Amino acid sequence: MNLDNFDVVNMRSELHQIPELGFHEEKTSDYVAKKLEEMGLKVTRGIGKTGVVAYIEGEEPGPVVMLRADMDALPFVEDGKEVCIHACGHDCHTAMVLATAARMIGKVKKGKLKLFFQPAEETLRGALESIEDGVLNDVEMAVGAHIRPVQDIPAGTVCAAVRHTSSTFMYVDLKGLAAHASRPHLGRSTVEASVLATAAVNAIWMNPGQAWSAKVTSISCSASAPNIIPDRGQMILDIRASTNPLMKELLAKVEAAIKSATSIVGVEATVSLPGGVIPAAEYDEALVDEMRTVIKETLGEDKLANDCGGGGEDFHYFVQTKADIHPVYIGVGAGATPGLHHPQMTLDAEQLRVGVKVLEAFLRKKLG
Ligand SMILES: [Zn+2]
Ligand SMILES: [Zn+2]
Repeated sequence: MNLDNFDVVNMRSELHQIPELGFHEEKTSDYVAKKLEEMGLKVTRGIGKTGVVAYIEGEEPGPVVMLRADMDALPFVEDGKEVCIHACGHDCHTAMVLATAARMIGKVKKGKLKLFFQPAEETLRGALESIEDGVLNDVEMAVGAHIRPVQDIPAGTVCAAVRHTSSTFMYVDLKGLAAHASRPHLGRSTVEASVLATAAVNAIWMNPGQAWSAKVTSISCSASAPNIIPDRGQMILDIRASTNPLMKELLAKVEAAIKSATSIVGVEATVSLPGGVIPAAEYDEALVDEMRTVIKETLGEDKLANDCGGGGEDFHYFVQTKADIHPVYIGVGAGATPGLHHPQMTLDAEQLRVGVKVLEAFLRKKLG
């Protein structure tokens, strides 16, 4: 097998030309399947709709280690036209996992390396759909990777853990009572309820030593005419916390604040989390330490970056769904600028070689 056919930089630029939205990664999964078949691997498709799985198996018994890449791109509007762009670097992750797989052919002695190309990370549905299709059933260890922007870690360095936070959107449905504006005492106003609820949420305090936020991002409760007390309304909140227990506590406080504040004016509030709660990162810290050692051994002491954080990742549904999975997730400093999710995001693709080196070295320790 000629490793030149699996050059990470070339594969990334080819994948960059075929960006696709979550659950529509048809060309991307075709590309992935073709590359895996060129490596002589048997390919299973349709995991979580458009995901791809393949195994590199060893002769001796050992762990099943899943190396996971996400494949989807992001939607933007440019000059009034809808476009799709790889602005989060998932083309990089797919290329890194393919390049790592090519280097692992013939190197897996014990256990199995499971290669998983996941759809629809950006919709935060891809991991869940894939889990429903059984992608975790045989998995003991899950390894993930994401490129990092210049704000997080320097280009060419790697961090052993990306500390993603927990996040969710809360929807609040408000039910009041309509009345003529000249007789407000006969009504119950959802406008007044949402103002009181916003003030109550803003008065919540959590431990200032930990990162958290709860902010109202939308209020809509206008009446059908200017002289009617509005009886219907909806609020939306963006809520974030650095750990899963903190998120649980914050959600309880936000719900209590909203319900008690709206009850002052007799308005009924029903809260829901239609998109679920994205879990914060929970890693196997022993594996994170092992990863730190691998980074130092492979790249040199000065190339180990501090852990970085922020943002969300649906990778963390894995351990929340299957508690005995051992997760680890590296950040690869790729000099991405001006930042992830920016339509003009660019990066130094040469730095992906550094990510491939680290992943290969780690996997050879576990499976070699
Ligand atoms: Zn993203
Ligand atoms: Zn991403």
